[in-house]
Amino acid sequence: MMDIEKLNQEVERIMGDPEIRSAYDPTLPRTLNAAIDRMQALSSYAGGAVSDLVLQVGRSKFGEEPACGRCTSPACCWQVVSVTLMEALPIARALRHLNQDTAKFLARLEDLGQWQRSMNAAAWFNMHEPCPFQDQQNRCMIYAQRPIACRQHFAWTPDPLYCRGDSPESVQARTLRLAVEMVIDTILLAEQSLRVSFGIHRESLPVNVLPTAVLSCFRAFAAATRGKDDFRRALEQAPALTPADLEVMRAVAS
Ligand code: SF4
Ligand code: SF4
Repeated sequence: MMDIEKLNQEVERIMGDPEIRSAYDPTLPRTLNAAIDRMQALSSYAGGAVSDLVLQVGRSKFGEEPACGRCTSPACCWQVVSVTLMEALPIARALRHLNQDTAKFLARLEDLGQWQRSMNAAAWFNMHEPCPFQDQQNRCMIYAQRPIACRQHFAWTPDPLYCRGDSPESVQARTLRLAVEMVIDTILLAEQSLRVSFGIHRESLPVNVLPTAVLSCFRAFAAATRGKDDFRRALEQAPALTPADLEVMRAVAS
């Protein structure tokens, strides 16, 4: 099993590795790409560690493999997914590479984000609205960059329609304190790295629903073409989920 000490060693290795510069986009300033590469590597590593832990706990609890390996349902991508801006930046960059940053797509992200924040998460799941990053074949377009929330969701249910996040049969990392602590530590390190790299004057980077966070990052990339200060300002001004949003989203379905 992954332990905290090993994770911290890995985080230190990744944070200090100047070679983590895959997916380099020549249209962006090199330092920006390097910072986003680091964030992607950390997010991916933390997500993998959490996924391992959730699988181990679920296997020992249910005595079998999760249903996900046999599942072709799009149901788990009907969830509301919340992400940090740190996780959203590599996603937005990957979508730009796929030429998805069209005005039409951005308008859809705006609408979906507002819609998700205006209703409780269970009611949203029951609407069966696919994630905007799912393609026509129900595949994730950003699989390599997918958020930690997507990596930690497994279910041991007979029917994917029970795969809502609050189903007792699904095993979520939120029940695993160790896993949650590992992810939070990792995210905080990466956020610190971003803020130092870009001089961002914001206490912490915001968490928002996936469509809104990715939209904020698209806007920051557009601003980056005008200069580093504009990129920094765009990130500083990116909206966060408010207590009122959270109250609505966590409300019990009527
Ligand atoms: S979480 Fe549910 S819907 Fe998603 S792959 Fe697993 S069984 Fe299928
Ligand atoms: S980001 Fe990918 S894995 Fe996550 S909900 Fe969207 S399509 Fe599914």
